[in-house]
Amino acid sequence: KKKIAVMTSGGDSPGMNGVVRAVVRMAIHMNCDVFAVYEGYEGLVRGGDQIKKMDWHDVRGWLSEGGTLIGTARCMAFYERPGRLTAAKNMVLNGIDALIICGGDGSLTGADKFRAEWPSLLEELVANGELAKDQITPYKHLNIVGIVGSIDNDLSGTDATVGCYSALSRICEMVDYIEATASSHSRAFVIEVMGRHCGWLALLAGVATGADFVFIPERPQEHDWREDMSVVVNRHRQMGKRKTIVIVAEGARDKDGNKISPEEIRDLLSDKTEGGLGLDTRITTLGHVQRGGTAVAYDRVLATLQGVEAVRAVLEATPETETCFIAMNENKIVRKPLMKAVQETKEVAHAVDSKDFEKAMSLRDTEFAD
Ligand code: ATP
Repeated sequence: KKKIAVMTSGGDSPGMNGVVRAVVRMAIHMNCDVFAVYEGYEGLVRGGDQIKKMDWHDVRGWLSEGGTLIGTARCMAFYERPGRLTAAKNMVLNGIDALIICGGDGSLTGADKFRAEWPSLLEELVANGELAKDQITPYKHLNIVGIVGSIDNDLSGTDATVGCYSALSRICEMVDYIEATASSHSRAFVIEVMGRHCGWLALLAGVATGADFVFIPERPQEHDWREDMSVVVNRHRQMGKRKTIVIVAEGARDKDGNKISPEEIRDLLSDKTEGGLGLDTRITTLGHVQRGGTAVAYDRVLATLQGVEAVRAVLEATPETETCFIAMNENKIVRKPLMKAVQETKEVAHAVDSKDFEKAMSLRDTEFAD
């Protein structure tokens, strides 16, 4: 019987439980044994009760649960070879040679490194007497399949990551709440959303709520942002708007690459000197509500379809197969080379499609503001 393990790693995102549920049930359906590794790579390094055989019933009700019920962690030990050596030993002791990982680009990079090192890790375990030669014979190759779990939608090569639409929906809901009070008092709000390197959430939230202005980490503003924003906000106010909503990603930058803080934006909006906007302005940092709560329907579907496909990919893989991750491209679930996507993500520095980006940017500060 094939033995497959599934884990969640890196930052949690809504829908991760749906991935685990789908992998567990599809694996059982395909007559495999399936294990959950608790606490990401930490569980793999610790071994013991952190690697638990899963039954069909163990994942009942998981589709509608937020966060990740098998836990996630950042694991320093896994960055180093000795940590990965222990992880390999724990896998062999459980008879596991296939791993499905749901996490961000860091987790997936770690997985690929683990796969590449696998034969030499096993050799070392035999050489130092931790495993007997006949123990490792059936485990010559490690099979890795990735599923991208991230609220940021920050991986190149897939249209959506598990969790991003849940976070986006949550942001929109929160902005709607804020708008009601902003309008009542004719106030301005600077709303900080997550996204240290990728502005997908901020940009899409801006379009979805008709915000007045958006700041993101990619493509720093071409001009002086202070002038740009003042002109736009002024124009909208003159058109009769009673509220001003500015969305700023955590990692927003200006044209020189300097961070744009919510406080700077607030100070500009509330500037009461001659020619200033003089708006009563508040800052709201949405924080972890963006990660919490249950997954929206789209993320549940994505998690389920990708989990099913990941098990198929594991079962069809040969030693020659390139390590893949499961992507969504134009509404189809597809397998794509993992490291190429990770590389592209690093090179392009943002995962927003350039055409969509231009369109969204042209909407961000125009008559479309609500
Ligand atoms: P997020 O998008 O939420 O940041 P992530 O998966 O990118 O998710 P990281 O903290 O980068 O989050 O990685 C999670 C874990 O994966 C790390 O704590 C570490 O154990 C492992 N990992 C990441 N990068 C590597 C690497 N280059 N080599 C080995 N292990 C790694």
